[in-house]
Amino acid sequence: MLLNKCHCLLVTISLFFISPIIYAWNQVGHKVVAQIAYDNLTPAAQQQVNQLTQIISTYYSKQASFIDSAIWADSLMQRDIKTFNTWHYINLPINQKGKHRQYYAKINVVWAIINAQSILSSHASNNFEKSLFLRFLIHFVGDVHQPLHAANLYSKRFKYGDRGGNLFLIKNRDAKNLHAMWDRCFTLSNRKYQSAKAIIQLANQLQNKYPKAYFGQALQITSPMQWAKESHTIAKDFVYTAQYNRPLTRAYQQQGQLICQQRLTLAGYRLAIMLNSIF
Ligand SMILES: [Zn+2]
Repeated sequence: MLLNKCHCLLVTISLFFISPIIYAWNQVGHKVVAQIAYDNLTPAAQQQVNQLTQIISTYYSKQASFIDSAIWADSLMQRDIKTFNTWHYINLPINQKGKHRQYYAKINVVWAIINAQSILSSHASNNFEKSLFLRFLIHFVGDVHQPLHAANLYSKRFKYGDRGGNLFLIKNRDAKNLHAMWDRCFTLSNRKYQSAKAIIQLANQLQNKYPKAYFGQALQITSPMQWAKESHTIAKDFVYTAQYNRPLTRAYQQQGQLICQQRLTLAGYRLAIMLNSIF
């Protein structure tokens, strides 16, 4: 489904007023997904994404590169632009004794990826639209691989869901709740990876640790809903083994960090496959 012109206009106007902040994977997470994707683009695809990235960058110079533009979608929320809020996640329910109404919004991260994909592939879209939706796509392919962007826990404590771990408190110096901890991939602080060089190094480390062969068949899965379901399964089987309002165990943090690193790397490879096929 194509987004109508009003939405595009709204975003165009808002571009002049926004500043960067963090939601979902933090800035490091989103940038490293973009970097891994960029590293795996064909020269033709690289050339096209470079051109498209430049169009929006005229309005928003702070995030002028393909890598930096990965965090742009989160900065819209900071300016209280609510139109795109549900595009970042899909609340697939995890039910622990839940008997309450459970649903997820139809306009969700899976929809957003498919929408962006179709706009980028369509001859009917102009380059401004493509530039805009390329930014969305880079960001949302990252988001859907964060386990807590595809899960909502219903339990005795959370009768109406825990908002993807946002209400699930933990005792930790770096993060107040489970969602925030997974967003920062446990150890990837924005302060530590501020420079473009640091992101490139991290992307190289992750690709060396998890080369494409590591993921095997998983790289052939091109359905965003399947990606969301993978995230949901990880949330169900591992993420929510954390204890509410308690410190995370060392074992949990180590395992969680590995899972995060794998999800970031996989997201980067899958984004590259998608962009190579579009361009
Ligand atoms: Zn997001």
